[in-house]
Amino acid sequence: MACRSKKELKMFVEEAKKCAAFGKVADYIPALGKANPNDLSIAIHYPDGECVSAGDIDRKITLQSISKVISLALVLMERETDEVFGKVGMEPTGDPFNSIAKLETMAPAKPLNPMINAGALVVTHLIQGSNVEDRFQRLLSFVKELANNPDICIDEEVAKSEFDTSQLNRALCYFLKQHRVIDEDVEELMDLYTKQCAIEMNCLELARVGMIFAMNGRDPDSGKQLIPEHIARICKTFMVTCGMYNASGEFAIKIGIPAKSGVSGGIMGAVPQKFGIGIFGPALDEKGNSIAGIKLLELLSETYQLSMF
Ligand code: GLU
Repeated sequence: MACRSKKELKMFVEEAKKCAAFGKVADYIPALGKANPNDLSIAIHYPDGECVSAGDIDRKITLQSISKVISLALVLMERETDEVFGKVGMEPTGDPFNSIAKLETMAPAKPLNPMINAGALVVTHLIQGSNVEDRFQRLLSFVKELANNPDICIDEEVAKSEFDTSQLNRALCYFLKQHRVIDEDVEELMDLYTKQCAIEMNCLELARVGMIFAMNGRDPDSGKQLIPEHIARICKTFMVTCGMYNASGEFAIKIGIPAKSGVSGGIMGAVPQKFGIGIFGPALDEKGNSIAGIKLLELLSETYQLSMF
């Protein structure tokens, strides 16, 4: 069973919206601070092509950490699995997404997983190409294909705002460079990473990307395998174990679907073999997840028994 009714979805949105007042919009990237904390929208994309949505679904959001799942898929498609996981681990962490603490205690400076910033920076470093622009275009083409929209681009203001203020991410890069985990110019990597995080799309597109992961990498429209099945599986597993920051355990218990959130308030869900979900609700809880977005997923998961466990 699944939610195919717009009316019902609207009711869920109204109910979940009540939580937004208890959250806070992220403003450590100054441009993100302009978001309206009361916004909430959702789209569900089914493999048969149907899309049900509610809320202001035309509003675009930057992917932020959601992009980490996509860059990981691309890098695993371009390189050997052992090479990638020789540089970044597979284990969840109870630390916040931008923590530097474990890098110092885990020899040899190997980030615990690709969903925290340190690990994501390593993954972005591994995107192949002759220069930053070429590497970014490679990633962007992949995103366009997944979202089925050739016009997807970045929010320049958000990219610049993060680039100008991202001193903690620079610190992570320098630490990784000192320990030879990465070997490129830090400013170039920051340029690429902040552009990656500033790729913007609406909930419908986000739900479509989630649907591709839900369908093990296959695009049901074209029949094309956009992501090899084993890579889609790896990405979904990371979404379960580390996709919702250090609230991933609780999320798995209460909601039980592979999902990845970002500090812009986006959540991409991939309900295996069923559908993809795109949510935008910029008010975040204390762990950095969309507070109303989590409530919305809770309502959906309970009503339609979506937990995979
Ligand atoms: N661009 C953000 C950062 O690196 C992404 C963080 C997130 O969405 O969790 O700080």
